[in-house]
Amino acid sequence: MSRLHTMARFDERVPAPDFVGTCEGCGELILKGEEHFDNEGDLIHNDSSCMTEYLKQIANYIQ
Ligand SMILES: [Zn+2]
Repeated sequence: MSRLHTMARFDERVPAPDFVGTCEGCGELILKGEEHFDNEGDLIHNDSSCMTEYLKQIANYIQ
């Protein structure tokens, strides 16, 4: 009984995961240890869609 009690114990006060900042592409948090780029302080996930969104913001689109 006591063992079951131990196994069923969940701490609901899990601290928020560490994050390094917000992705300039998708706007989501970039968690510590997650691959990302730092472009002069702008953080971007190592993800093609995030980088595309970021590039659209900082670069001019020439057609
Ligand atoms: Zn992102």
